[in-house]
Amino acid sequence: MPSIALFVTVYLALVGLGLGSFINLVADRLPRGESIIRPRSHCRACGRELNAIDLLPVVGYALRGGRCASCRSQIGASAPVVEGVAGVLMAVPVLWLGPWPGGAAGLGLVACWGLAVTTLAARRYANEEAGWE
Ligand SMILES: [Zn+2]
Repeated sequence: MPSIALFVTVYLALVGLGLGSFINLVADRLPRGESIIRPRSHCRACGRELNAIDLLPVVGYALRGGRCASCRSQIGASAPVVEGVAGVLMAVPVLWLGPWPGGAAGLGLVACWGLAVTTLAARRYANEEAGWE
């Protein structure tokens, strides 16, 4: 594989991971009726604002051992999974079809994934609220 194609694939996979990170944010806040723009991402337990390391998809989770750096409260294990799947959904069509139309197909898949994750999160949140957990 020519190195430029490899570079593009890796780049788009990283874009997918970043989108996965955004999916987590939306799935976390939308069901609660919170803004997805403000405030900046923070720990739900202690309110510490997340820094660049925390926000690194998958890697940040691994570095922190799945816990908040200051209060050690556990972060949901679903976060890196959501990000990883988004990265794979982006990379596979690109490897298969090339940057175009693979990149567009990947974006579509990631969008569907985001919708599915957000819908599930909203349902789970509604159940928790109703005490059906
Ligand atoms: Zn915390």
